[in-house]
Amino acid sequence: MRLRLKIGICLSFFILGPLGCYVPPASKPMPATRPVESAMIPVKPQKREESYIISQLDHYFVRDWRYIVIHHSASASGSAADFDKYHRKKRRWENGLGYHFVIGNGNGTSDGKIEIGNRWKNQIDGAHAGVEEYNHYGIGICLVGNFNESRPTSAQMASLSTLVEYLKNRCRIPAENVIMHRHFRQTECPGRNFPYYKLLANTYF
Ligand SMILES: [Zn+2]
Repeated sequence: MRLRLKIGICLSFFILGPLGCYVPPASKPMPATRPVESAMIPVKPQKREESYIISQLDHYFVRDWRYIVIHHSASASGSAADFDKYHRKKRRWENGLGYHFVIGNGNGTSDGKIEIGNRWKNQIDGAHAGVEEYNHYGIGICLVGNFNESRPTSAQMASLSTLVEYLKNRCRIPAENVIMHRHFRQTECPGRNFPYYKLLANTYF
């Protein structure tokens, strides 16, 4: 029966083809797919990149993290590669970059770009806190900039908010454990102008 059906389909193709029933792909009506495609394109192209990077985080196994610690770089520019070089050469840290994530400000990398450090990929302790407990259990996120002198960009805050939400859910970290470096250490980090309460309330915008 199946063979007969196949033969039937083939025959009808050859017979109907020349009669105009076969529609070549080029003349297929296009408008049906267009609205779906355009609806999927985010307003900001950058948003797509953030979402892509966040989706990449699903590939990494996570261990028992308890805190998310926010820092600024206290420099006007920088990137994960710049800080990695500094931490390896000047601080002589074997594992390089002390943070798990770096969020760029447009000077060194693109504005709002999330860079994933090797310490996150390998799920190893950070070197960002200066306190054993927070280096071991704290996920270190560094925003490029000096927020004693300026403020984080909107793109940085959007990326930070997305990343923090992801990490809270993925690692089951309660909101009260999303903290600033200065909460447990004598430092101004992440700067006087860092909008911590707006981040927590998700009302930055
Ligand atoms: Zn810090």
